[in-house]
Amino acid sequence: MIKVALIGNPNVGKSTLFNELTGLHQHTGNWTGKTVGSMVGYKKYNGKTLEFYDLPGTYSLIPHSEEERVTSDFVINEKYGVALIVCDPLCLERNLNLVIQTLEVTKNVVVCINLIDEAKKNNINVDINRLSAYLGVKVIAISARKKLGLDELLDSLLSYQQSSFDLIYDDKVEECISIIRQHTKSKFEAIKTIIEKKSNDLIIEEKLNQINSYLGDNNINFNDSIMNSVVKCCENITENVVSKTKHKNKFNLDKILTNKLTGIPIMIIMLMILFWISIVGANYPSNLLFKLFVSLGDFLREFSINVNIPKFIYLPLIDGVYKVLTWVVAVMLPPMAIFFPLFTLLEDYGILPRIAFNLDGYFENTGTCGKQALTMCMGIGCNAVGVTGARIIDSKRERLIAILTNSFIPCNGRFPTLIMMFTMFFAVTNNSILNTTINVVLLTIFIILAVMITFVVSKILSKTLLKGNNSFFILELPPYRRPQIAKVLVRSLIDRTLKILARAVIIAAPTGLIIWLLTNITINDTTIINIVANLLNNFGLILGLDGVILTAFILGFPANEIVLPIIIMTYLSSNVMVDIEDISLIQNLFMQNGWTIITALCMIVFILFHYPCSTTLITIYKETKSIKWTALSFILPLIIGIILCMLINFIGTIIL
Ligand code: GDP
Repeated sequence: MIKVALIGNPNVGKSTLFNELTGLHQHTGNWTGKTVGSMVGYKKYNGKTLEFYDLPGTYSLIPHSEEERVTSDFVINEKYGVALIVCDPLCLERNLNLVIQTLEVTKNVVVCINLIDEAKKNNINVDINRLSAYLGVKVIAISARKKLGLDELLDSLLSYQQSSFDLIYDDKVEECISIIRQHTKSKFEAIKTIIEKKSNDLIIEEKLNQINSYLGDNNINFNDSIMNSVVKCCENITENVVSKTKHKNKFNLDKILTNKLTGIPIMIIMLMILFWISIVGANYPSNLLFKLFVSLGDFLREFSINVNIPKFIYLPLIDGVYKVLTWVVAVMLPPMAIFFPLFTLLEDYGILPRIAFNLDGYFENTGTCGKQALTMCMGIGCNAVGVTGARIIDSKRERLIAILTNSFIPCNGRFPTLIMMFTMFFAVTNNSILNTTINVVLLTIFIILAVMITFVVSKILSKTLLKGNNSFFILELPPYRRPQIAKVLVRSLIDRTLKILARAVIIAAPTGLIIWLLTNITINDTTIINIVANLLNNFGLILGLDGVILTAFILGFPANEIVLPIIIMTYLSSNVMVDIEDISLIQNLFMQNGWTIITALCMIVFILFHYPCSTTLITIYKETKSIKWTALSFILPLIIGIILCMLINFIGTIIL
């Protein structure tokens, strides 16, 4: 059996190759840091077994983040037969850096130039033989996606050769390396130890001191000197093996997408189109689902009566569990099933890194980094995902800021509730197209508000609790790639839509029961939920809300999706029964309970800013391992929500 370490820069098609070779399924994304941890897969070929270790993408073996450390540790410390380095011919020079570093750890290397189809399309030619001669290793051109050259690649893995490549640095640098080389496993480990300036080994520690004073005496910057040699070598090889025939007049999308003037407006328009399609597309299936669920509910009720199921059993099940559950499914499923695939398409096409690029300057001004924009985009899907996604940010300080502010961005669970609020109180014209436009515009405005508040809070955090300098990072703009539509559909439906829906449903069922109990068990003729609501009412009124709404937010802690059904059920417990599929009935119900336009506005603001749901909060704790930061991420949006609601209520009452 041959153990193969699969390494490469992020986004070179490593996961695609891994899946193609081993048939194991794994998520593939279009920005750095998507592949977390390493996966193992097997391939039987010509009677031999190859064992592939899919390691997180990395630019360098000197790690800058936790994920890069996984790869670096593996390459340097693990025992494996051969390192297979996947490269992107479109940015070979950058990829070669990793190849050269790896060649200093092990001589058993096979280089694979993936995306050869893309290269052809872009008129880029890589002289494979010459590259192979330079590096002294087998170099194979493949296309993982088109399944080209895979057999040849497997053959070369079974018959790899020892490279004789050796990069010679400046004399003085070589001298430093040689001082500790006999105490380290590889030349690269010696270099890394000198760069990182630390070791647990006392002998090496002593040698490091010796090296440091040598470097100091001779006025040498070791890191710069090493980097210079590597960069020069990469440049030299690339110059000699890559040739381009330039396209004339080839339109470059980045000219408008990352342009200072047009970039951000185009992104906003794209977001609006996305919302438009989701809202319009979801309308019909949502209504259909509602009708279906109502008739099924009626049938279940009749059936229960006919077969004499006692009231205390079927009422909580149908009016509690069933109603909340079906509400969540009918409201959430259609928009998610439309939004997620579209969003994943944009992601796969390479749009998200462009958004980060456009916002980079703003984030820099707030003392953080543009990658935070990526975590915010992920947060639109689900805040818990956004929080985990913050791992792509190297600096701990900036990662914490991204985590603390992620829940300011409304997640998918909150969208339907927001849209329902707009539909009830703002999109009330007779023209359905106009109504949709109002919905889309309002949603976009509130998202922009959320982004601005993120900027403000990030700035405050980086000036107070999380002081520090901006980290320097190179934001990679991967080439645009036509996404694989079928794969995107399956992945976004299964990976995202169903997972998030399943979570909501699991929470909705027991919550439905609890709500039914709270709205039906009475003490002194008052239901429990009303007792709680009455307690909270005065505070609620200060915020422009009421006790019932606050109670609903508290009960909705496990999942934002269920806030609205809780409000409806609580109001209904003291009203005649109406079915919840008709939005104007819900609006009437709210009006009867004292809602005004101010209540609606405050409610919208509170949906945006209260506290992260329990799943997100648990994720924050897991990521930060700190009660303090978890608590802060709870309190921060809550304080902002409370202040904004009070303000709106105060100003609103004066004006109206
Ligand atoms: P990783 O970050 O290195 O694991 O990269 P992925 O496997 O996620 O691939 C990044 C993108 O490149 C995905 O959209 C893939 O579908 C695409 N891709 C991978 N291999 C090829 C290829 O050979 N040709 C083309 N055209 N696209 C590819």
